[in-house]
Amino acid sequence: MATSIPIIETRGTHYEVGHQIGVAAREHLRAMHAETCAEYRSTWQQLLRASAPFVAATQQRLPNVLEEMRGVAAGAEIPFDDLFLMSVEELLYEEVRGLEVRNWKLEVGDTRSSPALPTPSPVTRHPSPPKGCSDLAAAPPATRDGHVWLAHNNDLGASSRAHLFVTRFRVTGEPEILAVTVGGWFISIGMNHAGVSLTGNQLNANDSRAGVPRLLIVRDILAQTNLDDALASALMPERASSYNNIIGSQDRRIVNAEGSATAAAVTWAHTDDGIIAHTNHYLAPEMLHLEADAAHRNMSASRCARALDYAQKYRGHIDFEICARLLRDHVYAPWSVCKHAGQSVTVFSAIIDLTELKLWLARGNPCENEFSLYTI
Ligand SMILES: [Zn+2]
Repeated sequence: MATSIPIIETRGTHYEVGHQIGVAAREHLRAMHAETCAEYRSTWQQLLRASAPFVAATQQRLPNVLEEMRGVAAGAEIPFDDLFLMSVEELLYEEVRGLEVRNWKLEVGDTRSSPALPTPSPVTRHPSPPKGCSDLAAAPPATRDGHVWLAHNNDLGASSRAHLFVTRFRVTGEPEILAVTVGGWFISIGMNHAGVSLTGNQLNANDSRAGVPRLLIVRDILAQTNLDDALASALMPERASSYNNIIGSQDRRIVNAEGSATAAAVTWAHTDDGIIAHTNHYLAPEMLHLEADAAHRNMSASRCARALDYAQKYRGHIDFEICARLLRDHVYAPWSVCKHAGQSVTVFSAIIDLTELKLWLARGNPCENEFSLYTI
């Protein structure tokens, strides 16, 4: 089975880079757009109105990202508002849909005003979104060779496999970014030439709100030139919600920001002998009350337990081979690290040697496909 993921090469201003991506991935973005519109058909217009405060917050905090998105929309010939809504998981997964009617009516249609973030309210829950991920991150003294190693399985709906790209962002004034994207622009993971990497996991929190969509914050994290600025980006107070962001740095630091809209637990690899393991549920005691998906916790806990098994067993010996072995692991199947069944399956697998800025990727399940090397 072919394992390589096609590359999109870009260069220029934010808008130019976005436009190049939109043109290169037009067929894929338009297919994703059609699928999303069909899924939300009856509520799409209502969701567009509800996305207005998200647009306003992003315009204020991340204007460059929004400018890049305008380029993508133009290049792909998709209405900008539709493309923006496709990035607002907080609305599409109904994490904050319940807030819309109660709190956002007055803000809708006034996208130029400063975003007034509504007070979190009880959340209307959507069935568990088809996303998951398993991560192991290791720095000295946990690694065999003193490098920083990251292992990541990305679990999504199987249809996402067809829309995967590796996108090289060469934006004037930013470090070059090499990222795995869905549709060329929506970033899953990546690293940049300044030696900053981002991997991580979807979380389901009960305090999501209007703000900068977590999916767009990812783009800003990878634009930073050092770990401290990347962490500050991940925890920007305007965030609508948060992933569990694992940020690595060539200076051998790795930080885990287990966030939500209003809170975050920050842990450092060096306080646990150089290791971080995480999947799709809250681990920090102070974050447990924010968990909105306790019913599916076991599907995540089994994968986390397995990553922790590897962390314990191979501490001091972690390298490419150990990362690859974990990512191909089937213990606790069907809720295994290499995931073949359920709403989400492993659509790509990644290993990063951040010290040497090397990224290996396997499309699909890594037990069935070889890793291919991509470099900055
Ligand atoms: Zn497998």
